[in-house]
Amino acid sequence: MQSFTLLEPSDIATAISAAAQPGAKYIAGGTDLMQLMKDEVEVPTRLVDLDGMKLSDVVMEGNTLRLGGTARMSDVAAHQAVRMLAPSVSLALLSAASPQIRNMGTMGGNLLQRTRCGYFRDTGFACNKRAPGSGCPAIRGENRMLAILGGSDDCIATQPSDMPVALVALDARVELQGPGGKTRELPIREFYRLPENTPQDETNMQPGELITAILVPVTAASRRSYYLKVRDRASFEFALVSVAVGLELRNGQVADIGVAAGGVGTMPWHLPEVESALIGQTLSAEALRNAAMQAGQGARPATQNAFKLPLLRNAVLRALETVAA
Ligand code: SF4
Repeated sequence: MQSFTLLEPSDIATAISAAAQPGAKYIAGGTDLMQLMKDEVEVPTRLVDLDGMKLSDVVMEGNTLRLGGTARMSDVAAHQAVRMLAPSVSLALLSAASPQIRNMGTMGGNLLQRTRCGYFRDTGFACNKRAPGSGCPAIRGENRMLAILGGSDDCIATQPSDMPVALVALDARVELQGPGGKTRELPIREFYRLPENTPQDETNMQPGELITAILVPVTAASRRSYYLKVRDRASFEFALVSVAVGLELRNGQVADIGVAAGGVGTMPWHLPEVESALIGQTLSAEALRNAAMQAGQGARPATQNAFKLPLLRNAVLRALETVAA
């Protein structure tokens, strides 16, 4: 691991100012970043520790659940309000990693987890995301776990976190604070970027910006929400495919619905084609099946992952059936 300086600021303004400098990175739980530093995939010269910030509260503000940026994944998953008002968020968090990692990992860190593409994490290989312009060996190599949606000729890596998939389905927002105390809210559906020809740029965050909170609108659909994860083994494994659904029924018809998928896209993948197939519909087995078959339009499988498209559609159907029951 390369040497670095560690700053432990006690206020947010000092932390943001320090993190805006070239070569600086925030560190909170460190569950992903420390491994990447050991492997010299990430080589920051300065770490800005967020432990001293007061950003870990989980509170209701009006009709919004406010999840602090440094709240621990396990604390948010177990929080009574989250379990009652946005159960898909709790389920997604509980399906991630291991209890030990969830005890350390933070909400902001989970949004920013880097891809699990093996070429990205091994500096012995080329990788456009790690070394722009060096190439993408995954496109003709090991790509079973990678994306069928949103990829480019330069990168087909998936964003691997579970919780953002639930956030996309519920149309959550990310609260950011930047240099000069400037704050803004970014819809989670606009938070991530497609790889195109700059796969190293993964989000629409600006230099130095800090994730201060995640804002989840509490609605009838968030209360009736669910997260389904399909993976190679039952624990401590990333999604082959995952699906989040939030559903509101009024007089037996779909009044509101949000659907998103993980494991299939280069970012948590919103599925408006499934939503529009169901909005205003009376739920029936046929309506659910027809809607699920819309998922993944425009998919471009790589050499090893064509199985993900039917798996996605079956997972969407199972998730819809579960929230509809
Ligand atoms: Fe790198 Fe993306 Fe290609 Fe993986 S898919 S090797 S992360 S450029």
